[in-house]
Amino acid sequence: MNTKYVFVTGGVASSLGKGIIAASLAKLLQARGLRVTIQKFDPYINIDPGTLNPYEHGECYVTDDGAETDLDLGHYERFLGVHTSKANNVTTGRIYNAVIRKEREGAYLGKTVQIVPHITDEIKRRMLLLGRTGKYDIVVTEVGGTVGDMESQPFIESIRQLQWELPDEDFISIHLTLVPYLRAAKELKTKPTQHSVQALQQAGVHPDIIVCRTEMPLSSDIRRKVALFCNVKPGHVIQSIDAPSIYQVPLNMEEERLDEMVLEHFGLNHLPDPDIAPLKAFLDKLYNPKKMVDIALVGKYVELQDAYKSILESFIHAGAANDCKVRVHTVQAEYVNDSNVAGKLGDMDAILVAPGFGERGLEGKIASIKYARENNVPFFGICLGMQMCIVEFARDVLGLSDAASTELHPETTNPVIDLMEDQKCTTIKGGTMRLGAYDCKLDKDSLAAKIYGTDLISERHRHRYEFNSDYLGKIEAAGMKATGRNPETGLVEIVEIPSHPFFIGVQFHPELMSTPEKPQPIFVAFVKAAIDNRIARKGSADFVAEEA
Ligand code: GLN
Repeated sequence: MNTKYVFVTGGVASSLGKGIIAASLAKLLQARGLRVTIQKFDPYINIDPGTLNPYEHGECYVTDDGAETDLDLGHYERFLGVHTSKANNVTTGRIYNAVIRKEREGAYLGKTVQIVPHITDEIKRRMLLLGRTGKYDIVVTEVGGTVGDMESQPFIESIRQLQWELPDEDFISIHLTLVPYLRAAKELKTKPTQHSVQALQQAGVHPDIIVCRTEMPLSSDIRRKVALFCNVKPGHVIQSIDAPSIYQVPLNMEEERLDEMVLEHFGLNHLPDPDIAPLKAFLDKLYNPKKMVDIALVGKYVELQDAYKSILESFIHAGAANDCKVRVHTVQAEYVNDSNVAGKLGDMDAILVAPGFGERGLEGKIASIKYARENNVPFFGICLGMQMCIVEFARDVLGLSDAASTELHPETTNPVIDLMEDQKCTTIKGGTMRLGAYDCKLDKDSLAAKIYGTDLISERHRHRYEFNSDYLGKIEAAGMKATGRNPETGLVEIVEIPSHPFFIGVQFHPELMSTPEKPQPIFVAFVKAAIDNRIARKGSADFVAEEA
């Protein structure tokens, strides 16, 4: 069978959940036994989102092979349970970089290098790349941005060309739009969808299926109207209604028969029904919690939920695994200090200190860690959160009052967190951190080994600074243990305080590999510790429904 290609574009507005629709369709196709991958083409000129502030673009998601990518890849992995790679996220910057490099090498000698055909050829080559590996039956490609954006045009043009270059039965185009509900008129409005599809058709791309994001159910009249004006088959207008959980969307899409339409188009109507029992079992636990906990997420990008997307999703997975609703309270680290920390965190069952870069909010993170350590509150530090728990311990327990990370205080006389030698001569910022999956060997009797149930793990990294092992002896003698190390370099990846009920800091990003069906073990154990702490504090962690 030829590899089949699904292209997903969006119109009217951003944030309609194009990535979730793409991932939901991919999930349904995978659940019928097909080998599926998803890729995202982003129209911005950055080579990757690694140098973008999370406020601009949400979290930067890291793959096993060390690519810094769009957060939608996180959704792809969470939905499909398969690992993505550098090839799954392509930006305009990467395309132009490749074309300009070829031009300098003389690959186009004598020719004027142009958007069509040179840029579009490079886009198409990459759109087909994963399909050509022979590893996939279906490649779903999501194009970022909105149809009509100046930046998206070369991508839409590439889809237009592929529409004719690929056999009809190997190509399908899905367009996601918004059908707004006007409360005053009590009416759903289709005009923005009509305009969006017009823009797509003017660019030469004909959508086979239109998915309408809506807060109200779409009547058959509305569906017929959209089909009529947008030139698609009457049954091929479907709704994506607001859902209580993103993990509900595959079920909603199944109900709308999105996967059936796609398979029919591809001539694959003989496949078995999708096996989505595991997803249903997860949703059942998610929707029917028996317990609840309050967990603080102390960070500096708290105003934008997308900045901590994978952490928030990991709590959803770990909560369901514990039959527990996890209420995550994001706490702006900038406003936390030693005098107000008890007020801000006193009612929390557990405290997580988030990853991050730069000075802002750092002292608040340190104050939160001190509070968790001294008051036996379950604590989980990730990346910068782990680095700061070493700084806090060095300052308060070892009495090294100027202990710091040289990232923030290069002049400190106690650089407990410092650059590795090979990072000291790195001047280029993009793509040069310690990135991607690395093995980590766990001490046999550690909390980490108990949590993971093994002594060798692999987790993904994204950082430049490391625990300075010159301080290891003193820190261990005072009661904080290094319990996980990189087997090749000996770098410390995990620290724990064995005398504390639950205190763990990890240099890697465990949140990146959590999925509904395989929740991340540290998150699961952390939620469990939060439940135990709530029972100890309040006598019960029973779920109480919130009043509407
Ligand atoms: N800023 C720290 C470093 O580069 C931590 C990074 C992070 O939390 N992802 O090492």
